[in-house]
Order: sequence, then structure tokens, then C-alpha cells
Amino acid sequence: MFDLFGKKFSRRKLLTTTGLGVVAASAIGLDPELVAAQTQTSKGGELPPQIKFSPDESPTTEVSSGGPPTALPPAKRLGFAIVGLGRLSLEEIMPAFGMCKLAKPTALVSGDAKKANQVAQQYGINPKNIYNYQNYDNIRNNPDVDVIYIVLPNSMHLEYTVRGAKAGKHILCEKPMAISVAECQQMIDACKKADKKLMIAYRCQYDPYHRAAIRMLRSKELGKVKVIQADNGQNQSNDISQWRLKKALSGGGSLPDVGIYCLNATRYLTGEEPIEISAQTFSTPGDPRFKEVEESVTFQMRFPSGVLALCSTSYGYHQSRRFRIFGSDAWTQLDPAFAYNGLRMTMSRLSPSNNMAEDVTDIKMTEKSQFALEMDHMADCVIHNKQPHTPGEEGLQDQKLMATIYEAAKTGRTIKLPAVSGLDVTRGPAPVTLR
Ligand code: NAD
Repeated sequence: MFDLFGKKFSRRKLLTTTGLGVVAASAIGLDPELVAAQTQTSKGGELPPQIKFSPDESPTTEVSSGGPPTALPPAKRLGFAIVGLGRLSLEEIMPAFGMCKLAKPTALVSGDAKKANQVAQQYGINPKNIYNYQNYDNIRNNPDVDVIYIVLPNSMHLEYTVRGAKAGKHILCEKPMAISVAECQQMIDACKKADKKLMIAYRCQYDPYHRAAIRMLRSKELGKVKVIQADNGQNQSNDISQWRLKKALSGGGSLPDVGIYCLNATRYLTGEEPIEISAQTFSTPGDPRFKEVEESVTFQMRFPSGVLALCSTSYGYHQSRRFRIFGSDAWTQLDPAFAYNGLRMTMSRLSPSNNMAEDVTDIKMTEKSQFALEMDHMADCVIHNKQPHTPGEEGLQDQKLMATIYEAAKTGRTIKLPAVSGLDVTRGPAPVTLR
């Protein structure tokens, strides 16, 4: 049987994973109304087979795109409610649904009814599925919604995750997960209690270039990796009313907003957790943007295998979003690495035929929408009852390490952390990329 997920998918499994079944639910004392809303017998299922063209044997220099994609019919895709219709939602996430194969937008949550109605019309969302922040909890009665995607200012992630999980929906939440370690833990606990999945939207971990970099590092293609350098920053606008510059809403400045990409990358590239952290911060005196949050942070980490990481982030430098992995035999870099698109991968090693020459190669892959990959992964996890690759525990660990980075900068000390054995301990199974 055709199966792009690498395993067979049965209808019986769907029933046991996305719905509890009314008889079993009442027997164990669950709210039958909630269970009825969760029972989606018509969602998910097998992807239809890929349409194939007869092979073209004539010589060509074209790289194959892999053939036509396949996708679940719209009626079988999982429904996503988008909470917060700001820049990220409207500029990146909503358009990305057009590239999804398992997910579709079915509801909107916004404080601005006019904007929500306009977006609903643009994407064919039923106007009855528009909520505001007050009646959000009524989403529990809406069988069109399987997953809630929270795209609000960082300080609001906790409340909307807890309310969403209590409403019986799975949660996909933007990074940073929250504004404190305690909040991250509450989010994990709330989703566990409701028996709902929680995934943090670390889009880069679903990107083909980042996955290739992980494979290169882990397969020793670069030799023994010594150092990873990562930088992510931008010259933040002068609008001092923006929530990113208010600590109560953002939790911090460049570090939780964009520096987190560097931190997260060093962790998913190596699969390891740091055992030592030192850091420095700086904010330009008198710059009104940095009254509450920091401008720049540099931080250094040591990993158990000996890899050293050197990271920088800033709200004050021209946009730079890159990393380079320095191995004993070669280096590879993504520059840009953390942009939404236009990623460029380069690798350098000594030429095998001439040790006076360096072979510098551009590695090209078919670009994919990171947001579509991420949302389809969430849908795949719900359909197949899998742990997301970037679950709440992944967000919690970054939050703990960011707190350590701030502490190291404040005290000027190098902070030692207990060694964590094993690789990818905060991650679920690697994502399966659908054609
Ligand atoms: P934004 O300011 O453009 O949008 C925020 C939305 O929240 C707006 O619609 C706003 O009206 C609404 N909102 C509700 N209550 C609010 C309040 N009290 N104050 C301010 N806004 C309020 O922000 P954004 O850039 O869309 O960021 C939203 C989330 O997405 C953040 O957590 C951010 O870190 C994350 N993000 C992630 C990426 C990524 O690449 N994964 C990129 C950008 C932002």
C-alpha cells in the first residue's frame, strides 16, 4: 500500500488517536461534549498516490524537483485556528497553507473583527469560525478545529495555550515558548493534563537545508566538528510602542526574539546540551528602544563532545542570519540560515586533486515553505499520535538556557551546567518530509 509516512496508516488507529470514542470516554468520566468535538472520524487517512510522468531519458542538466506533490483532499486535512492576526500570521503563515498537504486554516482568533472577516474571506474560512479573545474558549465546540496555532506576543503564549488545551485542542505555539521557565512548565503540564500535543514552532528544524546540515555534522562529513558560529540580528525599528521593546510582553530583547535561533541551532545541529555558558550584553546608552530590553548579546557555550559555540544577536546591527560549522576536514555554512527563504548553503574542503586548492561548493536543494513543513508536521503528529519533533520540552530547554545566558552576562561568571547524556533528548522523532 502506498505510504509516504514510512508506515501503514489504519482507520482504526485514526479513531484511537484523534478521538477517544464516546463509550470509552463516558466510562472514564470525560466530558462527552468535549469528546464528541474531538472525534474526527473523517480527518486524516492515506495520502493519494503521487501522479507519475513517464521518465524522460534524454540528456538534461536540470535537477529534478521530485515530481508532483501529493496531498490529502481538503476535507480530510486537519483544521488549524490561527490566534493573532499580526505580521507573522498574515505575511507568512496564512499564505503557507497554500503549500500544506495535511493542514488547512479553518478558524481565526482576533481582537479586530473587521480584519478577521477580511482574512476569512480571502482564505475561504467560514465566518462562524471567527472568535475574539473573550469567546475563544467556545472553540471547544467547533469540530472544524483540531489544532490551535498561537501567534501572539510572547507573554500571551501561556494563557492561550492553557485555554486552548482546556478547550480540547492540540497546540502549536510560536517561539519563544513563553517569557519564563515557570510559564513553559505550566504550558507543558496543561497540555499533558488535557492529553493534547504541544509543539513549539521552530520552523528551521523542518527546513531541508537545516536538516542537511544536521546530517553533515552527525555523519562526520566535516571531520570532527570544533566550533559553531551563529549570528542572528536585525536593526529593530524605532517604533518604541512595539511589544518587542516592552519587557512585560516580550520577556527580553534580541535574545528571546532572534538570538534564540542561534541557541536552538547549536543544540539541534550537535544534538547535545551545553555544559558551560558565558555571555555579555550591551545596550547603547540613551537609545529609547533599549529602556526595558537589551540590544545585543554575545554568548559562548561548551558542549560535552568538545564543540565550542560562539553566538551573537542584536537589535542594533544590519540583518545577519547565518551559521558556520567548522570541522577538521571541511566547513559548511548557511548564510542566510534563519531567513524565511533564500537560504544558501556553502561547503569548503581541500581539493582531493590539489592540496593547494580549496573546493568551495554551493549546495542547492528545492526550497520549501518552512511554515508549511512545520504545520504539516504538527498535523502528521496528530494523525499518527506521534510526539512532535519540537515539543514543549524543546522550548523549555531554550528558556532555561536563555535564563542562564542572562545570568552569566549579569554576573560575569562562566556558568557550568550538569551534563545531559544522549542526543536530542528534548526532541521527538525526526520529521518526515512529504513530497
Ligand atoms: P505582531 O505584533 O505583528 O502581531 C501580534 C498580534 O497579536 C497582533 O495581531 C496584535 O493585534 C495581537 N495582540 C493581541 N494582544 C496584544 C497585545 N496586548 N499587545 C500587542 N499585540 C497584541 O507580532 P508577530 O511578529 O506576528 O509575532 C507574534 C509571535 O510570533 C511572537 O511570539 C514572535 O516571537 C513570533 N514570531 C515568530 C517568527 C518565526 O519566524 N517563527 C517570526 C516573527 C514572529
